[in-house]
Amino acid sequence: MMMMMSVGILDRYRSLYNLADDYPVVSLHEGSTPLIPAQRLAKCLRVEGLKVFLKYEGLNPTGSFKDRGMTYAVSQAKADGAEYVICASTGNTSAACAAYATRAGLKALVIIPEGKIALGKLSQALMYGATIVEISGNFDQALSIVRELGEMTPKLAVVNSINPYRIEGQKSGAWEICDDLGKAPDQFFIPVGNAGNITAYWRGFEQYKAIGKIDSLPQMFGYQAAGAAPLVLGHPIDNPETVATAIRIGKPASWDGAITAKTASGGQIDSVTDAEILSAYHCLARHEGVFCEPASAASVAGLFKAAAEGKLKPHATVVCILTGNGLKDPDNAIDVGMKGANRVALPPDRQAIASFLGL
Ligand SMILES: *Cc1c(COP(=O)(O)O)cnc(C)c1O
Repeated sequence: MMMMMSVGILDRYRSLYNLADDYPVVSLHEGSTPLIPAQRLAKCLRVEGLKVFLKYEGLNPTGSFKDRGMTYAVSQAKADGAEYVICASTGNTSAACAAYATRAGLKALVIIPEGKIALGKLSQALMYGATIVEISGNFDQALSIVRELGEMTPKLAVVNSINPYRIEGQKSGAWEICDDLGKAPDQFFIPVGNAGNITAYWRGFEQYKAIGKIDSLPQMFGYQAAGAAPLVLGHPIDNPETVATAIRIGKPASWDGAITAKTASGGQIDSVTDAEILSAYHCLARHEGVFCEPASAASVAGLFKAAAEGKLKPHATVVCILTGNGLKDPDNAIDVGMKGANRVALPPDRQAIASFLGL
């Protein structure tokens, strides 16, 4: 019997990445995440013949898609002889940065906005042993400090998505979707924060088309949170606010990449309210058994909105990216999950539980 060992994205797509034989790949076997059909969701959208798939990125080694870019950025930092990898983060980048730095034998420094990090993400950075600096400011301020630090010395490798290897690594998500479907999706939905991921997916699809792996490109739909929607408003904002902390960003670093994806694909970048995000978040867990974090549900909230606006095409194959795992943010999960929860306290007694069940 042949043994199928899992590999990370740099090995899976080694020829596309053009890596030398002795390239120091730092991997936790990220990627190859499932593309899960969502039939109940598709049915409730009432579009004829619609097929909906969820790309569940929460199953990456540190629980978010950030691992795809981090494997490459940290490998390159190692190849370049850096001592520290540093990043600004709303949480998931710091978790991935800390894990891959440890894996590489490098030190990690993460700068996070004080008090705005979901509990699961903070616990990861602590456990992987990163040095954590909390600033009394927001993500955008943290990122500009990290940029400046990175310019001071080559000992510090910046692994935010301004690092081109991050975007390169994240293109692998697009390739996996096309490999699984045997074609490109027709319409594609994704949350947008710093806009690195939508930029990466679009480039990934374009590259696959250029080498003849697919013969069409998807229409790209990106969704920001209404309180943090600079790309929709057309200008940066100073005080972004949303329950979806992973996309609480007022000045996206990959602004131009997001606009290119939208324009070149005939798609759109729109916003969804926190109420719409939390409703999609709850609906995915309740009706599809898929638990993602709030920011991830912006793609599905966007799908509902696009359906209501008549923008979904009959018989289309639609993919929604679920960027991170629901376990990342237990506070929001408990808040939202309590609504309509089936939860009672009973004595430790078989009969009491049997009568509760109506048996
Ligand atoms: C980072 C992140 C996003 C936003 O991705 P960008 O590339 O910054 O647009 C969305 N959801 C989750 C869970 C994230 O960690």
